Amino acid sequence: MWKALWKDPVWAPVISAGIVTAAGAGGTYLLGLWPAISDQAGSLWRTAGEQSKWSNWQVWMAVALAIPSVLLALALLWRAIGVSTGVDDWRNLYLEDKLVGLHWRWKYYPDGSLGDIHSFCPHCDFQVFPHQASAYAAIDRIGFHCDSCGRDLATFGEPLEHLESRVRRHIQQKIRAGSWRQQE
Ligand SMILES: [Zn+2]
Repeated sequence: MWKALWKDPVWAPVISAGIVTAAGAGGTYLLGLWPAISDQAGSLWRTAGEQSKWSNWQVWMAVALAIPSVLLALALLWRAIGVSTGVDDWRNLYLEDKLVGLHWRWKYYPDGSLGDIHSFCPHCDFQVFPHQASAYAAIDRIGFHCDSCGRDLATFGEPLEHLESRVRRHIQQKIRAGSWRQQE
């Protein structure tokens, strides 16, 4: 879960800012500076009521401390109103892959299911169709041959329907695991 958040374009900077702030606070604490800072904060609080006498560095420090909170609030708001934060990128980016020895292309229906799966030659990208590779019609054995570069590509001991189902499940597995991002 943290790994996914870390890669998330919205959460990553928020987490980084949080870590930097925590590290800064920890470092300050170790240096024994907290009493001085809380004194300073106390006097800031007291003087805030009077005519503002904040010096530039005090204003900038307050702004710097507020940034992580603002980022966090923005990220929560962003999530709440359902803006896409790249989580569904696969719908736009993962539309082809090399699986089981062939190059496949497909599209997604609005419900996220796969459709229009087509196979292509992994060498020259020519679209290829299966042919019956068994001499006996009763035995399901299909093969793919490229009519463009002339290569025999792959044979499978199953009907096309099963092969496509297998490819579909490979694709869905990669989407769930997030490993589709590591495509060449
Ligand atoms: Zn080819």
